[in-house]
Amino acid sequence: MVVKRMFYAFCALYPLLSWGQEFEASVKLVNFSSDHVKKIHHAITLIKKVILSEDFKQRVITHSVNGKKSFIDNKGLSNEEIYRIILEGSELASPGKNGRMDIELELYEQDNTTIGYTYPDTGRIWINQKYFQRYTPVQVADNLFHEWLHKLGFDHSVKYTTKRNYSVPYALGYLMEELAAKHYTPQP
Ligand SMILES: [Zn+2]
Repeated sequence: MVVKRMFYAFCALYPLLSWGQEFEASVKLVNFSSDHVKKIHHAITLIKKVILSEDFKQRVITHSVNGKKSFIDNKGLSNEEIYRIILEGSELASPGKNGRMDIELELYEQDNTTIGYTYPDTGRIWINQKYFQRYTPVQVADNLFHEWLHKLGFDHSVKYTTKRNYSVPYALGYLMEELAAKHYTPQP
C-alpha cells in the first residue's frame, strides 16, 4: 500500500510581455509532489513562451487542411479567430477574456492507457501519474495545452482518424510540443 503524499500548491505565474501582448497562467495543483510541481512549472513556462511567439502565431494562422487554411472541427471559426480565442483565454467553466490560462490539475494513479481527461464544465484536468512520470516537460506542455483547448470549447472525434490530427486540440497540441522543444533547456 503506497501512502500518497498529498499537498496543494498554488502558483500565479507572472505575465510574459512580448509584442505588447500578454499571456498569464494560473495553475492550481492537487496531489503533486515537489518534483512533479517542478515539471508542471517548467511545462507552463514553455506554454507561455510558445503562445507569445511569432512562430506560434504564424503557424496557427497558416494551418491548413487539404490546402485550405482551416482546422477540422473548427466550429466555423477562421484560423485568426482561433488564435484570438487562445490569447483571450476565456474558459467555458470560468468565462472572461482575462488573457490567462486558468486550470486546476489533479494527479491520479491508474494502470490503464488514459493519459488524462477532463469535462467541459470544470476547470480541472486529471492527469495519470503513470504517463506524467515518464513525460518530459515538453510532452507535458503538449498534453496540457491539448486539454486546455478543450476548456476553450474545442473538440475532436473520440475515435482515431487521420483527420482528427487536424482538430484544434490535436494539431495545436502537436505544434506546442514542436515549438516548446525549441525553447527547452533541461533543468537540474
Ligand atoms: Zn482531447
